[in-house]
Amino acid sequence: MKCPKCEGYMNDSTPVCEGCGFDIHEFDEVLQTPTERDGLVTDWAGALSEEGRERINARLQAFCEQTGLDYCLVTLDSSAPQSPREFVFWLFNRWQIGGEEHLGVLVLLAMAERRVEVEVGHMLEKYVSDDEAAGVLEHHAVPFLKKGDFDNGLYHSLDMLARIIEHGVSEEKANETAN
Ligand SMILES: [Zn+2]
Repeated sequence: MKCPKCEGYMNDSTPVCEGCGFDIHEFDEVLQTPTERDGLVTDWAGALSEEGRERINARLQAFCEQTGLDYCLVTLDSSAPQSPREFVFWLFNRWQIGGEEHLGVLVLLAMAERRVEVEVGHMLEKYVSDDEAAGVLEHHAVPFLKKGDFDNGLYHSLDMLARIIEHGVSEEKANETAN
């Protein structure tokens, strides 16, 4: 994964940046311990309707069952005093999305900052990089989010990202079978 401060490479197991010295523990003092995740969809900001939440939850669940990976969505009112980019990085690590090997994806919507951010576990970056994933979210979520349609914005962007990773995983399996 990339350092949220200098964008340099960071090892998953020791979240201290070799480039700028950033240490994830800096955030612990400010943000405290995060409350437990609420399954696959943790809607702290109450951005989703009941229907929207269920639809997204079903999509993420299907993804997890098909790929064996983890995929989590969080909405929050504000990431302050950290940036949304820093917050998603911190939460991804503190919740250990995808277990110790970080075989998972975390998407964060920060309402006050009007930002969607994503953290892709480094084992999954062969399917989609952090930058590509951010581009997918931007492209598929922002048109809906601008209209205040969080249900559709999050569903469509999360679905598109899921498709890309599912495609990568099934191609890999096909190659393994062929060899
Ligand atoms: Zn750094």
